[in-house]
Amino acid sequence: MDIHAELRLQHEADLRAAHYTEGIEGRRVFPAAEALAALAAFDEALPHRGKDAVDTLRLLDEVGSPATVASNGPRYFGFVVGAALPVAAAAERLMLAWDQGAPLGITSPVSQAVENIASRWLLEILDLPRGSAVGFGTSASSCGLTCLAAARRALLVRAGHDVDSLGMQGAPRVRAVVSDRSHITVYKALRILGLGTEDIVRVETDVHGRMRSDRLPNIDALTIICLQAGEVNTGEFDPFTDVIARARIAQAWVHVDGAFGLWARATRGMRALTEGVDGADSWVVDGHKWLNTPYDCAMAICRRPEDLAQAMTSDATYAQGSADSQKNLTLDFSRRPRGIPVWAALRSLGRNGVDALISGHVRQAQTIAERLRTAGFEILNRVVLNQVLGRCETDAKTAAVIRFVQDSGQVWFGGTTWAGRSAFRISVSSWRTRDEDVDRLCALMGEAINRFDMNGRVLGA
Ligand SMILES: *Cc1c(COP(=O)(O)O)cnc(C)c1O
Repeated sequence: MDIHAELRLQHEADLRAAHYTEGIEGRRVFPAAEALAALAAFDEALPHRGKDAVDTLRLLDEVGSPATVASNGPRYFGFVVGAALPVAAAAERLMLAWDQGAPLGITSPVSQAVENIASRWLLEILDLPRGSAVGFGTSASSCGLTCLAAARRALLVRAGHDVDSLGMQGAPRVRAVVSDRSHITVYKALRILGLGTEDIVRVETDVHGRMRSDRLPNIDALTIICLQAGEVNTGEFDPFTDVIARARIAQAWVHVDGAFGLWARATRGMRALTEGVDGADSWVVDGHKWLNTPYDCAMAICRRPEDLAQAMTSDATYAQGSADSQKNLTLDFSRRPRGIPVWAALRSLGRNGVDALISGHVRQAQTIAERLRTAGFEILNRVVLNQVLGRCETDAKTAAVIRFVQDSGQVWFGGTTWAGRSAFRISVSSWRTRDEDVDRLCALMGEAINRFDMNGRVLGA
């Protein structure tokens, strides 16, 4: 393909992308059944002779776009996903043209320079210890694994076990303390690191989903305590100050999963929820959720840079980097400069813009909770953050309401279980969500609650 054909193709992709973005507000939030059925068009045999590039793009757009979930739109309230800020998405587009692999400075000076600034700004805006190392990874899952690997190694080394030479065979037993509401990806990371269920103590949570510090087991210098900033149902925060004070005495490691909730620390209004969190040893926060960067963007933050760099080092004789080379702070070697969308988001929002984004969502969540309560729903959480957890009188009616909303195509959120019963979970985390979108959600819910009986059957049908 010559440069002119490449430019035409790129232009074509830009036009199609622009068309998609233009329609994002009116798009069904979850694709229609016909769009899902049409996905069969992708089911071709692997071609012997390559097909036309323009046609490949056409197929992807014509069949693919209608089968997308409009999570980049204003009325997607599922999980905690966020949309993509225009500036962060635009930076990604430019980065695609650059196609930089950014494991170390020599492979991409600009990436290293901008990621270093993004690291500094991140520590400032989250008010975490300024000397910490920041690794930019794909997800809170992978960054959590990174931090927990650093934790395990550091604790073993401090206990006198030369883990780099001796490996895990014959190593002293490392235990983890989690809450019974820790995110499933924390368990996954611990399992990958060789901790079995017998090595993990699950601490009971209170009615808000916070770890009960009065139920902490004995902890010692071989314990990793996993705390949470933002429980996925209630949005609540573990008691950092209490637990971290005890961890300090025991010389245990404290890791904080703050995938979305840590952003509360970047606001004036909600900062108090994170009181004491800066006393931890490592933290994880996503960019692709509440900061609204595009996907594959998260950060592993470690108080003592050497703990992260020693666990993650991938210095080879041909590729030696300094301890702040990204390849020595994350799982990946070759990687896009994921810190660049973070930099772009922080630069264009500024401190005030981040505060307004996060605080605005919390205000909208509180409005939703109030209106749904008035409409007759039971709201199960205090709505300290952007999550609204609610239900109807019976599980059958709750399920019918969720299905009705999802099928409407106007709005999407999902279900969960809370205290042994079905509930719905609404998360406000997209920069596009305006108050009109909140109105539309509440109107639809008002219609839904009056539509079904206790058995989830349509009334009068
Ligand atoms: C989403 C989430 C994760 C996992 O994050 P990914 O970026 O999806 O891997 C972990 N913990 C919490 C609390 C989350 O909300």
